[in-house]
Amino acid sequence: MSKILTIGEILVEIVATRRGNGFREAVPLIGPFPSGAPAIFIDQVGKLGQKCAIISRVGDDDFGWVNINRLTQDGVDVSGIDVLQHGTTGSAFVRYREDGGRAFVFNIRHSACGQIDLSDKSLALIDTCTHMHVMGTALYAPSVITSILTAVERIKAAGGTVSFDPNLRPEILDSPGMHEALQTVLSMTDLFMPSGEELFLFAEAKTEKDAVEELLARNIKAIVVKRGDKGASYYDDDTRIDLDSYRVEEVDPTGAGDCFGAAFVTFWLQGMNPAEVLRYANAAGARAVTRAGPMEGASTRAELDALIQAQGNG
Ligand code: ATP
Ligand code: MG
Repeated sequence: MSKILTIGEILVEIVATRRGNGFREAVPLIGPFPSGAPAIFIDQVGKLGQKCAIISRVGDDDFGWVNINRLTQDGVDVSGIDVLQHGTTGSAFVRYREDGGRAFVFNIRHSACGQIDLSDKSLALIDTCTHMHVMGTALYAPSVITSILTAVERIKAAGGTVSFDPNLRPEILDSPGMHEALQTVLSMTDLFMPSGEELFLFAEAKTEKDAVEELLARNIKAIVVKRGDKGASYYDDDTRIDLDSYRVEEVDPTGAGDCFGAAFVTFWLQGMNPAEVLRYANAAGARAVTRAGPMEGASTRAELDALIQAQGNG
């Protein structure tokens, strides 16, 4: 059986309960919710019963243990999470604007996961994994970039595969070394999972069809384009599949892309056919938005089957 690895930030998310512009006034908050795009991704993978692990760092504080406890409960191998005695777990404060946009205050680069180096123990953990998932958000610091590229290279060299979700946030786009790292990861990617406009950051072409062709010509085996409440599409050399989204009430959109990606990678690695894989991913993304808190809407296989049964094939 394959084992999926990711490396990157573990955070708590604290959410303003009233919409508005940022945090320059006192607002009611709810949290801490376990979070961090790689953590949400790997939690959803674990919840589907797939073997998986994360390499990261947290502080020896409640915010760290909220995450470790949840990931453990959902079946993730947490042996690669270092608990730093004198560190503080990362955090993200989020407030939704009236127009649905999001304002963030991040504490990542100066938190426990601001630096992630690989010990002999983490190198040994990498060598037990057959697939690496790279989250673009995780390319926020040089040491983390180095760790991710090391894992990608080791897993590829051993015959494994790589998936890549650029997941770009304007707040972190200017991180040192990020642009080069994005290109290096793309050159080793088997499964590319951009959302909407992100496709065009990696291609010269101006239409989706041309951009997809251009990227597939660069050794990428399959591309999945996420479209929020408009569903998703799958492309490989011979196939295009489009699905509308499932109809659900959107409570909190954060984490949809991560849960979608986790379900896609899990079932893709199990050899399910692409139409069915996309359907499960579509269902995982839809369920993710129905709960407040980024990781709270992660689903079991039975919950995905129930949504698919209730609403058909999407
Ligand atoms: P994020 O990075 O904020 O988690 P993303 O941009 O990577 O999100 P989205 O395109 O927002 O990803 O969502 C991923 C998938 O989840 C969509 O392709 C769709 O299948 C599903 N999804 C998202 N929002 C909704 C919604 N409101 N209703 C139904 N399905 C949704
Ligand atoms: Mg995303």
